[in-house]
Amino acid sequence: MVTKAKKPEWAQDNSNTFASSVIPGVSGGHDGNAAYHPRMTQNPPKKNVSKKKLTQTDYIQGILNQDRAILGRAITLIESHSNRHREMAQNILDELTPYTGKSIRVGITGIPGVGKSSFIEALGCLLLEKGHRPAVLAVDPSSVITGGSIMGDKTRMEKLSRDRRCFIRPSPSSGTLGGVAQKTRETMMICEAAGFDVILIETVGVGQSEITVRSMVDFFLLLMLANAGDELQGIKKGIIEMADALLINKADGDNKIRSETAKNEFERALHYLQPATDGWQPHVYTCSAQTGHGIAEIWDVILEFCSSTKQSGMFDNQRNKQALKWFYSLIEDQLKHMFYQNPEIKRKLPEIESEISEKKLSPTSAANRMMSVFY
Ligand code: GDP
Repeated sequence: MVTKAKKPEWAQDNSNTFASSVIPGVSGGHDGNAAYHPRMTQNPPKKNVSKKKLTQTDYIQGILNQDRAILGRAITLIESHSNRHREMAQNILDELTPYTGKSIRVGITGIPGVGKSSFIEALGCLLLEKGHRPAVLAVDPSSVITGGSIMGDKTRMEKLSRDRRCFIRPSPSSGTLGGVAQKTRETMMICEAAGFDVILIETVGVGQSEITVRSMVDFFLLLMLANAGDELQGIKKGIIEMADALLINKADGDNKIRSETAKNEFERALHYLQPATDGWQPHVYTCSAQTGHGIAEIWDVILEFCSSTKQSGMFDNQRNKQALKWFYSLIEDQLKHMFYQNPEIKRKLPEIESEISEKKLSPTSAANRMMSVFY
């Protein structure tokens, strides 16, 4: 059981506690990295930035001018539960939409302990060396279930979190997985508008969250270990089928030979699977987040993926499909919400439920009856 570390006040992520209590222009919002770094006590964000009340234009200009503090505050609006904040966030997103989409979106998954944050730290540093501006986001279902977080509470990505060219934001923590995913998608879009050109979205390898992250990224990377159970790592759960590459981490020291053997075994297994992205054959690679072995190579694989799928049209095709799927799932969510919030439906539901339980009414007739009440 992971317990929440007590963070200094300025490092606390308002969105992880009560986003609805954040009033734009008064308090709340941070510029990203601090919340990932509870032990960092130097350089708290300047208070005067967060005190000024921002207009919609301030937000838009600030984001386009790559102002980290304003970006952080805009994300807090996105994560807010207040309708007024959400509405403002939507207006900001609408204005910024033409500036989005220019990044490479990479999803990273794997069981806890596989080395995701160490890998992101290593890859992120390489990207900075190459002149990129990475943003690291997370989708953590444990925060939805427990209100705490497997991923966000550790002191993670020390070098990256100190580097002002990189933006790190932990998982939004309230609502359903669908709600978290929506906020992460929107956060990704405004990070793109703020000039971040590689978006790394980390998720923990348990449950539904991989499917969710897969549906919002271009390239999906599964981190594995040479000596962990295959079933645990996604062989049976179908995670491997979703991956554009498998990467065996911790290929260092005594583990190096074992990692090579595992690589060959997984490579054979991949032959029998349908590729996750049409026209792209996934392969298995090894790396060590600790020594840096294989990090540059996997980045080259990601670049090769982008150039080959852009050439074939698959890159844009996948993005369009993802945008449409997102659109339809939002419609479905809203319809469902309208249905269950309808006062007449609320009043009739318990009665109909008992009639189904007492076998007085079939589920089909019951559903038809409720639909006619709704219409
Ligand atoms: P996560 O839970 O998937 O984010 O994993 P972490 O990045 O927190 O790493 C879990 C543990 O594995 C930590 O103790 C790391 O120091 C260690 N670790 C991560 N990557 C490597 C690696 O490439 N080689 C070795 N030997 N250890 C590693």
